[in-house]
Amino acid sequence: MLKSNYDVLIIGGGFSGATAAWHLANSGLKVLLIDSKPWNRIGDKPCGDAVSKTHFDDLGMPYPEGNQLEQKIEGIKLYSPDNKTEWTVKGEGFEINAPAYNQRILRETQNKGVEILDLTTAMKPIFEDGFVKGAVLFNRRDNSQIEVNAKVVIEATGYSMSFRSKLPQNLPVTENLEDKDADIAYREVAYTVDDIEDPTYLKIFVNQETSPGGYWWYFPKGKNKVNIGLGIQGGMGYPSIYTFYNKYLKEYGNDLDMKRIEVKGGALVPTRRPLSTLVWNGIIVVGDSAFTANPVHGGGKGSAMIAGYCAAKSVIKAFENGDFSASSLWDANLCYIERYGAKQASLELFRRFLQKLSNEEINYGMKKKVIKEEDLLEASEKGDLQLSVAEKAMRVIAALGKPSLLMKLKTVAEYMKEIKTLYRSYPSNPEDLEKWKSKVNSIVSEFDNAISK
Ligand SMILES: Cc1cc2nc3c(=O)[nH]c(=O)nc-3n(C[C@H](O)[C@H](O)[C@H](O)COP(=O)(O)OP(=O)(O)OC[C@H]3O[C@@H](n4cnc5c(N)ncnc54)[C@H](O)[C@@H]3O)c2cc1C
Repeated sequence: MLKSNYDVLIIGGGFSGATAAWHLANSGLKVLLIDSKPWNRIGDKPCGDAVSKTHFDDLGMPYPEGNQLEQKIEGIKLYSPDNKTEWTVKGEGFEINAPAYNQRILRETQNKGVEILDLTTAMKPIFEDGFVKGAVLFNRRDNSQIEVNAKVVIEATGYSMSFRSKLPQNLPVTENLEDKDADIAYREVAYTVDDIEDPTYLKIFVNQETSPGGYWWYFPKGKNKVNIGLGIQGGMGYPSIYTFYNKYLKEYGNDLDMKRIEVKGGALVPTRRPLSTLVWNGIIVVGDSAFTANPVHGGGKGSAMIAGYCAAKSVIKAFENGDFSASSLWDANLCYIERYGAKQASLELFRRFLQKLSNEEINYGMKKKVIKEEDLLEASEKGDLQLSVAEKAMRVIAALGKPSLLMKLKTVAEYMKEIKTLYRSYPSNPEDLEKWKSKVNSIVSEFDNAISK
């Protein structure tokens, strides 16, 4: 078997792995990135392809351009189940051609010296003395096996979690995904018969009958092409996602030219708080594999990029210290939790609450503005659901018809705050992780009890 040594091995070249590589490219480290797919299919996975502009700005990443950009977005229109209320939430973003952008980032990293092997799969970890020390790879181009030793492995295998799942199961980075903490999502990209009225707005339709625990989306990719699909909560014993798609497509996509469908496919999205630690000795887990997607809307590309960025920063520091233990890589946790993870934890609670609402309650809440557009924007940007005293009093009056809904909302806002505070006191070293984790678990189960009453 061939053997080689690298400083860093990145497994998976999707948004998280590619971003980690991009931020490591000028570090002087010897980096190898591998992906099971052929070059021209890397980044090609079922997705709605909508990414907020802020992610690119915050991380200093280039904007999608040319064929990587399909539509500039100005905001989202959100529709109530009865379609009687439409909310507009402004916010710039991009509807991207994900493989084209992803491959551009990979080319840029390759030009700066990162080695990339496509058609290459990490088959099993090299694990010695409590440290991840590399992986055994299989290259389908020449059917060769390669043993790669690396000081740090960045695990970016997406929801397959295909590398970390083969590590000893007592490592904290091997945490499993509960079925109910994932959405099953499916989408098609199709041409429309007529031009789309306003392609600069993404449309989201909430409806517990046509997409229980999730939503339908209609994301324009230009004037006459659309990414249309839905997500439903996993683990609930619902009929298959295709059943929902076929049954309700007409309600959301009656303008599709069914003869001109470009792609179709489905996949899972994690909708929970991130892994309690992204790092352990010799390894950092990023992206869907680390559950970094947004629990409420399931968008995971931006936060996959954040995780990749945080991983790269902590790897560079670990090399400065010559220490690749969990404590030395710990900064990746602090960086990710500060930038996105704490918000994810509070949004997980919000998601658990939303999934329990009936269509009637959602119609009522949106119509009466029990939560307003601004609250929603704040919740999605910061993970805070703030109901100021005066506003609350006003809305108590407005919502007299449903005091229990309002009381519940107050409980939700309190728990969201509590869990975010706990994430703000994330342990500064691995020794304190278990204690902190059990506090998180008890808030989540207390919360579940409180909203089930
Ligand atoms: C239907 C659907 C719609 C979505 N819509 C949106 C949206 O509109 N906006 C948004 O931001 N997010 C959306 N998401 C979520 C988003 O797609 C993911 O969060 C994001 O792409 C995750 O990126 P990643 O790099 O972690 O994983 P991936 O993009 O899945 O990349 C993982 C890579 O690892 C490779 N790999 C896996 N195992 C191995 C191995 N052992 N060896 C070598 N290579 C390996 C794979 O080939 C793959 O290329 C959606 C998801 C779904 C399913």
